Amino acid sequence: MKIAMIGTGYVGLVSGVCFSDFGHDVTCVDKDLDKIAMLERGEVPIFEPGLDRLMAKNVDIGHLSFTNDLAQAIDGVDAVFIAVGTPTRRGDGHADLSYVMAAAEEIARAAKDYMVIVTKSTVPVGTNRQVKEVVQNANPDLDFDVASNPEFLREGAAIDDFMKPDRVVVGVETDRAADVMAEIYRPLYLRDFPIISTDLESAEMIKYAANAFLATKITFINEIAALCERTGADVKKVAQGMGLDGRIGNKFLHAGPGYGGSCFPKDTNALARIGQDHSVPMLITETVIEVNDKVKRRMIDKLLDLCDGSFNGKTVAVLGVTFKPNTDDMRDAPSLTIVPALVGGGARVQVADPQGRHEGEKLLPGVTWCDDAYDAAGGADLLVILTEWNEFRALDLGRIAEIMSVPRMADLRNVYTVADAKQAGFAAYESIGRSGYS
Ligand code: NAD
Repeated sequence: MKIAMIGTGYVGLVSGVCFSDFGHDVTCVDKDLDKIAMLERGEVPIFEPGLDRLMAKNVDIGHLSFTNDLAQAIDGVDAVFIAVGTPTRRGDGHADLSYVMAAAEEIARAAKDYMVIVTKSTVPVGTNRQVKEVVQNANPDLDFDVASNPEFLREGAAIDDFMKPDRVVVGVETDRAADVMAEIYRPLYLRDFPIISTDLESAEMIKYAANAFLATKITFINEIAALCERTGADVKKVAQGMGLDGRIGNKFLHAGPGYGGSCFPKDTNALARIGQDHSVPMLITETVIEVNDKVKRRMIDKLLDLCDGSFNGKTVAVLGVTFKPNTDDMRDAPSLTIVPALVGGGARVQVADPQGRHEGEKLLPGVTWCDDAYDAAGGADLLVILTEWNEFRALDLGRIAEIMSVPRMADLRNVYTVADAKQAGFAAYESIGRSGYS
């Protein structure tokens, strides 16, 4: 199959590379000239484990190429995937569909022969029909179908998620489009991964419902964590005891500083807006958004308590700024709420993150960037673990306590225990949903 992928971000690039590894002939398009120049030099603009090797392999065998010329890329394709951003629209919480519609219009103007126009971006119910209208208006003679194919990969494990998905969702209106999509995903059909075939609306809804459900699960355990702290229960044990129930499952039950990232905040907001638009308020999702904001603010109170009520003049070491490990993505990361509160409160903030510095330098003004955890902890009054990168999971805590000015730790990912902290000589230790000491 000949495929074009519009957008070479976290989803488009991974999807394009993986489709090329399935044996398809893939051209990835981006309007960001710097990104395309990097990709043409064999450099990967994002950090995603394993992506560099898979990309190089498929470029070498001629399955994968990059361009900023959309018309050339879609010439003769069986399908073109739209994988551009759908960020929160400023002011009203809706998904901003301007990039999707601009891409659809560009495709329409350049397309000559039949193709399936597939939306991979996360888009509200009704968007694929809008895409169809935009294309029809821009090129009334074009023979085409639309398809909705939302993506469920997780940054940091994106290649595995794409190659071994829990399911693939494909929403189509015609058999012809269904056949093209089946051929594209043939390697997964052959290996018995579930492919759910639906109408356009259901495919669009599945993505938002799934993300809102996961955000709800995280927020539920975060709320339980707050109650655990007041009652002496241990949220890790509570989550374990809940998660072993097959009806609940143990995933997304890790208490932490509130969900962030490029999807959950914007997708929960968008679902709430879709509900309002259709006069079916999404009360659970709206509450989840509110509680998650409170969870993030609760973290700042926790840090303030550990700093005797004021950040002013304190040195705080922050380990991790990306929204989760194994990515360089900082979109809506908890660090974007917590670090400015520290800096604004007068703290000197020393930050270490294995991949976050490039983005972080733009987003977190006024902090000092350090090479590693030990560099960051030097002379600090408080150590905050914000992202559970592997390199922060096995720290020499004794060494850290020794080089800190006052050894206090806020372990916002529950990586360590009270016993670990006491043994290492920490004067204070607080985590999430478990008793600490100070
Ligand atoms: P991103 O911001 O990383 O990448 C989008 C890319 O599209 C950018 O490189 C941009 O330059 C390019 N672009 C925009 N308009 C274009 C046009 N007209 N022509 C060519 N290129 C264009 O976004 P992302 O994180 O990859 O997300 C893309 C979509 O996938 C979003 O809807 C998102 O919700 C969804 N999604 C993301 C994830 C994730 O983990 N990031 C997971 C599942 C779904």
